[in-house]
Amino acid sequence: MIRAVDHVRQMAAYALADLGGEGTISLAQNESAFAASPKAVAAGQAVLAQMPLYPDPEWTELRAAIARVHGLAAKNILCGAGSMELIGCLIRAFAGPGDRVLGTDYGYAYAASATAQAQADYVKARERELTVSVDDILSSVVPETRIVFVCNPGNPTGTLIPNSEILRLREGLPADVLLVVDQAYGEFADAEHDPAGIFALVARGDTVVMRTLSKAYGLAGARAGWGCFPPQIAGEVRKLLNPNNVSIPSQAMAAAAMRDQAYMREVVAKTAAIRDRFAEGCRALGLEVPQSHTNFVLMRFASPEQVQAADAALRSEQLLMRGMGGYGLNDCLRATICSQQIMDRALTVLKGVLT
Ligand SMILES: *Cc1c(COP(=O)(O)O)cnc(C)c1O
Repeated sequence: MIRAVDHVRQMAAYALADLGGEGTISLAQNESAFAASPKAVAAGQAVLAQMPLYPDPEWTELRAAIARVHGLAAKNILCGAGSMELIGCLIRAFAGPGDRVLGTDYGYAYAASATAQAQADYVKARERELTVSVDDILSSVVPETRIVFVCNPGNPTGTLIPNSEILRLREGLPADVLLVVDQAYGEFADAEHDPAGIFALVARGDTVVMRTLSKAYGLAGARAGWGCFPPQIAGEVRKLLNPNNVSIPSQAMAAAAMRDQAYMREVVAKTAAIRDRFAEGCRALGLEVPQSHTNFVLMRFASPEQVQAADAALRSEQLLMRGMGGYGLNDCLRATICSQQIMDRALTVLKGVLT
């Protein structure tokens, strides 16, 4: 038999969402309810004739657009085939056998996978009331801790801690611990918490901030993510990246989407309005729904049995939400916000199960 190396054989395959059969409406992957900016779609179509060529390995146009929107230096930005690629390379570059990566109870599952690939140990700090707790992270740091990985806003919780808490976390961590702040849903919270103060942490040399075009910009299928990195860290991560990682149409679409901030803000506002209405409807049915700062909500039911009943009823209406058993939250479902019409349908089904 041809055998993979030990640590790969021992790894579980990455648990992707169950997407159901044909005709299923997915509320399972936090994709945008709305199409990408028409300008992004046109920009992608306009470069299809360039396909014999490799893409720009410096992501020049995309980096310039990101730098302009966020007031960053283009040289600090790295782009990836989704931010997943950057997160994976970052963890593999800065953690190895015997090292620890410290996440939180409900942090991003892919960070744990990337840690296993690095043959390091993934450890979770406790969250309180479905929210990241800086005190619990700080008290979980040990000499082996190399990386602290925090999602803000959180997935699957949707909760947010203030920027002042992220600054307090950084101040409290040893200087040789890399802090990764994953802001995949940052665009949904930027109006509440100016992100400039978090990006400014990158200048310290020990902190990385990750973002993506997959959520608020409606480009999950394009695979375009980015991060703001200190130069020395960027240099190491680049050695592990696929040097031609973001395709020509994806770079063009992502750059055009970044330049169309008005469209993105409109999508965020529409999504948040549908979300808050859906969340209120769920609370009126007795479900516990933490205030979300993202394009999804986490719903806590009375019991795992009630979750099963709700999931079955939703599936019979071809609506598929995400089970949370993998996070130890088997009394919860996570619902990505879709159109008003679909969320109304989902609420009607839930009402039938719960009343
Ligand atoms: C969606 C998501 C990402 C990014 O995914 P990509 O599509 O690879 O950019 C990163 N972190 C979290 C917490 C996410 O939910």
